[in-house]
Amino acid sequence: MGKICVFYLAIIALAMSCDTVPGQNKSQLEMSEQTKAEYAIAIHGGAGTILKENMTPEREMEYRQALKEALITGEAILQSGGTALEAVEKTIHVLEDSPLFNAGKGAVFNNEGQNELDASIMQGIDQNAGAAGGLRTVKNPISAAIAVMNHSEHVLLTGNGAERFARDQELETVDPEYFYTERRWEAMLRAIEEEKGVELSESDGLEGKKHGTVGCVALDQYGNIVAGTSTGGMTNKRYNRFGDVPIIGAGTYADNATCGVSCTGHGEYFIRYAVAHDVHARIKYLNQSLQEATDEVVHGTLVNKGGSGGLIAIDKYGNVSMPFNSRGMYRGYARPGEIYIAIYDDEKQP
Ligand code: ASP
Repeated sequence: MGKICVFYLAIIALAMSCDTVPGQNKSQLEMSEQTKAEYAIAIHGGAGTILKENMTPEREMEYRQALKEALITGEAILQSGGTALEAVEKTIHVLEDSPLFNAGKGAVFNNEGQNELDASIMQGIDQNAGAAGGLRTVKNPISAAIAVMNHSEHVLLTGNGAERFARDQELETVDPEYFYTERRWEAMLRAIEEEKGVELSESDGLEGKKHGTVGCVALDQYGNIVAGTSTGGMTNKRYNRFGDVPIIGAGTYADNATCGVSCTGHGEYFIRYAVAHDVHARIKYLNQSLQEATDEVVHGTLVNKGGSGGLIAIDKYGNVSMPFNSRGMYRGYARPGEIYIAIYDDEKQP
């Protein structure tokens, strides 16, 4: 009898000395010890071949200032007790209104010389979501996506229908000319030349590149996570092409129990590998940490399949992850007492 007792005591001691318990792995234990940040907000302004040698100091400063303005806008809302939804909408407005980024003003042109804008939003509290695709006159497409979520029984509206809906909702509309910028027009002309086999070199950051996008994820004081994404899509796109941005689960996803995600990159790959949802699913079903989940998707799945780009993500504790597999990504985050803004791949996140 005594021997049996000693045997069981030894087993219990062994189990207690292990750093995992059955059914719970290490990252889950680490996460359960964490406390939630009061709030957190992360943004991106697109990923691509963004090289310091192709950027003038003035242009770099403009990008950093625009990113900072967007972050500060969202942070002020979260700090004063505003909701993650409000913070994401207002932060993305700043990025959409800037001609620097491929969303809203500054969006790329399609093959017919038009701008077609896509956006989506998802809230983590109830998985409610909205998206709009192929908009031509809505000044801030993220607000159209929010209106679809809040004022329709649908998730995705596109083209003329989405335009009509936006007007019914009294969203601000503009003449399509508003979206014109010379550099995006030239980028489209270059892309058309390239298609004909003419060799062209990158001039400056993303400009010669075919894509870009803006996005924001926020965690508010009430534990709600919201993710939103807005884009002009890919330069020289045809046939009413949509990328990942208006596809919930591809470019955008949010669940208060796991994380919020906003993506940027070659949209077709992000659709095929359901990238934003995959990050969430890895946390939910594999108990991965946010860092593990985002790294495996961006540096594992996407790299193996040839999909370039990156994402920003915030988990329910306010941890922030911003991996990308391209040469750069316009990005930043803010938490109480902390602000980080970066562009190139050698700028380490603290
Ligand atoms: N993902 C966007 C698209 O494919 C473009 C980008 O983020 O760079 O439309």
